[in-house]
Amino acid sequence: MSTAGFNSQNGTGTGQTYTNGPSQNPVALQQPPGVGYGMNHQPAYNPMQAKVLGPPSPALYASGPYQPVPPGPQLGSYPPPPAQPLLTRPQIGVLPSHTPPQSASPGPGPRQAQATPPAQATPPPPAVTSTSYYTGPPAWQYAAPWGPAPNHVNPAAAAPPHMSHGSAQLPGPGAPPTSIHGYPQPGTAPPPMNPPPPHTYQPNRPAYGPPPTAPPAGPPGATGTPPPPKVDAGAAQPGPPGRHLGHYPSLPPGYQNTLAPPPSSLHPALQAATLPYTQGPQPYQQQPGGPGPDQLSPSMAAMSLQSGTPEALRVVNLLQERNLLPPAPVPAPTPCLTQDLQKLNCSPEVFRCTLTSIPQTQSLLNKAKLPLGLLLHPFKDLSQLPVVTSSTIVRCRSCRTYINPFVSFLDQRRWKCNLCYRVNDVPEEFMYNPVSRSYGEPHKRPEVQNATIEFIAPSEYMLRPPQPAVYLFVLDVSHNAVETGYLSVFCQSLLDNIKALPGDSRTKVGFITFDSTIHFYNLQEGLSQPQMLIVSDIEDIFLPTPDSLLVNLNECKELVQDLLKSLPNLFEKTMETQSALGSALQAAFKLLSPTGGRMSVFQTQLPNLGVGALQSREDPNQRASAKDVQHLSPATDFYKKLALDCSGQQVAVDLFLLSAQYCDLASLGCISRFSAGSVYYYPSYHHQHNPAQVERFQRDLKRYLTRKIGFEAVMRIRCTKGLSIHTFHGNFFVRSTDLLSLPNVNPDAGFAVQMSIEENLDDMQVVSFQAALLYTSSKGERRIRVHTMCLPVVSSLSDVFAGADVQAVTGLLACMAVDRSVTSSLSDARDAMTNAAIDSLSSYRQSALTIQQPGLLAPACLRLFPLYILALLKQKAFRTGTSTRLDERVFAMYQLKYQPLAFAMLIIHPALYRLDDLSDEGALNINERTIPQPRVLQLSVEKLSREGAFLMDAGLVMYLWIGRNCHQNFLSQVLGVSSYAAVPEKLCLLPELDTAESQRTRALVSWLRDQRPFFPSLHIIRDESQLKPHFMQNMIEDRTESALSYYEFLLHLQQQISK
Ligand SMILES: [Zn+2]
Repeated sequence: MSTAGFNSQNGTGTGQTYTNGPSQNPVALQQPPGVGYGMNHQPAYNPMQAKVLGPPSPALYASGPYQPVPPGPQLGSYPPPPAQPLLTRPQIGVLPSHTPPQSASPGPGPRQAQATPPAQATPPPPAVTSTSYYTGPPAWQYAAPWGPAPNHVNPAAAAPPHMSHGSAQLPGPGAPPTSIHGYPQPGTAPPPMNPPPPHTYQPNRPAYGPPPTAPPAGPPGATGTPPPPKVDAGAAQPGPPGRHLGHYPSLPPGYQNTLAPPPSSLHPALQAATLPYTQGPQPYQQQPGGPGPDQLSPSMAAMSLQSGTPEALRVVNLLQERNLLPPAPVPAPTPCLTQDLQKLNCSPEVFRCTLTSIPQTQSLLNKAKLPLGLLLHPFKDLSQLPVVTSSTIVRCRSCRTYINPFVSFLDQRRWKCNLCYRVNDVPEEFMYNPVSRSYGEPHKRPEVQNATIEFIAPSEYMLRPPQPAVYLFVLDVSHNAVETGYLSVFCQSLLDNIKALPGDSRTKVGFITFDSTIHFYNLQEGLSQPQMLIVSDIEDIFLPTPDSLLVNLNECKELVQDLLKSLPNLFEKTMETQSALGSALQAAFKLLSPTGGRMSVFQTQLPNLGVGALQSREDPNQRASAKDVQHLSPATDFYKKLALDCSGQQVAVDLFLLSAQYCDLASLGCISRFSAGSVYYYPSYHHQHNPAQVERFQRDLKRYLTRKIGFEAVMRIRCTKGLSIHTFHGNFFVRSTDLLSLPNVNPDAGFAVQMSIEENLDDMQVVSFQAALLYTSSKGERRIRVHTMCLPVVSSLSDVFAGADVQAVTGLLACMAVDRSVTSSLSDARDAMTNAAIDSLSSYRQSALTIQQPGLLAPACLRLFPLYILALLKQKAFRTGTSTRLDERVFAMYQLKYQPLAFAMLIIHPALYRLDDLSDEGALNINERTIPQPRVLQLSVEKLSREGAFLMDAGLVMYLWIGRNCHQNFLSQVLGVSSYAAVPEKLCLLPELDTAESQRTRALVSWLRDQRPFFPSLHIIRDESQLKPHFMQNMIEDRTESALSYYEFLLHLQQQISK
């Protein structure tokens, strides 16, 4: 296959130029044959294909090229913009006080009666607005600040014909071209060299918290800055703390209980639980000298693994060692770097690599049989984020890499790029260090001291004025929707949080409701009440009054609040069962197109009317018995096409699916997947029958409405020359070879990429990776968040294994297996995952082990790999033999691709704790709350006891299982009941009792919930509970009807390896 283009991030010139192509025309985005992102194009070892080869089928998740679509009318289901004003069309429904001009509608429908009372003095909509959306060619484009930016659009022509947000003006033709066109061509022009402006390094930006610098006035190398925790390179590899490991009995599979280590031995690990990773956001350290050239050429040999076997490589016989789980969450491994470099390295919470030691060659990587890739959480909420305002953002002239802690300074005036090795000049203004307020210390600038940093972007980084925050809510109001009762919860949540919506004085909101028709709401300032406008011609959707449907939130807040208060009642008695979701989405797209923004869609049933209508594809009788799972791909490309149109206009679509019935998430989800939205799913949502889901919905909404948001974003991931990124996972659209289009970015989104080694890294000791996320903040600032990670290069297979990050490997394999399930089949994906474990352990045994010994052997750092693979096989996304609803399976697949690694791991391998003997020993103390830290138990029934109570934290859901003979003390002091029999059947709330036991239990549960962005519901279940099978299905180490126990799985692996 051609790999041309993959290196474009390195500025080699072989890459495709960034064409600025928003995706109105998906065909234009089609990659040339041979260049693709599907796993099938992977040149290197691909565990997902190791032993399973099948013909590629249409890829749902092939994140790259848009699938071939015949040109012509089929391109989109909606027609090109009409030549005549839309308002002349027939079929408009009702307008209480005015009828759109020239409306030749046959007449208002029966819904007219429900319309709100007349409002006066509504000016007729200006006819010009009918052309304000869906302009043929892209109306505006972003300069690509990181690469070739052949933006040939005339600035004047580029201005959208209708920019409704106030003072925002594009520079006219007279403006300097660079302010519009962005960066010059790489390598052909010098970087912009502006006169040194006043620096405004902003240590106290309120929104982000101050970077932990010493006060600028303080002496350099401030003694007040506490030194970071020392990382001993030699002992840095993770491994189980020194504790006794249980052993398997000689006769399998009679597992024995092994004693937990004495509590005192837990303490150090429990300490780590506060910071699950050893590296928090890097405090800014004023190091004398900085990472000068000397430190950047560390003698890797000195810290290599020659002095004895590191813990990561300790040989573990999996068939004998029983207790493999560390007592607290598994930490990320620390790369084997010099202390100076590691101290500056990016937090693993943001950036992780499957191999923390990068193999020197592709053939070495192929030998290890482990996938190479990055896992990112780029927009994570951070407590410490240095923010820099500077008119010159220093970047490599050749590859556009942002200056970072891992570049080298040849002297004060020149720095060498760590990605392409070009030597660049240090701009004059960079000579001044705003932190120490001294001159001549470019290596002490915050950009060179922080692996994660944010820049306020100057005008080169914008092609149009930053868009305002725009929120459009699209609500299902069919009979089914009203039955679930979700609408009142939604309206109340929005009313409660409306002041906390991220934004500024320009923030706009709008609402569309739909059943078999589409209803718009005129919220224009001056109206006494909101006006409902019904469009019943769903085949040819148009906007009745385009100017007054998205309104300024500040100016029209009262009307918005009125609407939210009246909406739930408005449809109370509806008998309309049909759902024209497709048309509603088209209408919403038209409304948002001129500005971009966020579309939040709430849907409760299978759309069954008009464009995008779907039919049920699930046969419940086949669920458990079918050999393979069908219908994981979308039934129609309508939603994907629309998503790409949205992406091109900077619109992201978030889907909230609340339904007891099959809704074909595999099709509907595409609307979010390719527009960089999120999918939320509440199966069996009902306001009365399912209080746990209602609580989850409420909590999720609160977070959703108030969390940080970035608009019109793009992310580019670069890596050192020789490495190449080729397959992306997550929700986005790949706009050019390595540029991800993210109309919205949120702090809860995770991404993964696969990599290969294209050129030998022989003469390199370290390589670097840089993710740059350019976005518009809700306050209208253009910002760039940059993360840079540095990793060592190694030449021996043992060193590659020693650096394996088992969780990152598992997370990436899960993404690849989702793709495989869709493009080939679920059974192929399952085989491929098993083979991944077989291949890597087999390779370890054959090529890395020096002394052969019997058993199933793994290096300590990979000791959890078979367990995690088995967990994946039993995960909802991939399991067989159990009745798994298709939508739930598809949703689980979405979660694996979209959740940041830390949360994905909880979904894959839940944490089990015993709760009836919680103590304060080793507890955390946070804000004067004592948080008990019970040991994480193996997921096996043998760990349960009838006398106990056990909490299983499975990410999105928690189960508290009460044993039949549970201690009376726990029942009364925590649950407030007199006996086991008195525990209610559907309990999802821990009562607030004034007892030490109750406080400890609630403190732990709420602390666990606080750790994540979504709200896990809690189910308190007895042994006879209906939910017990769900709890038991997560007992991954046990055998089920259709799946092996962990021990049996190990035997299977051993058998395959010794073949
Ligand atoms: Zn460079």
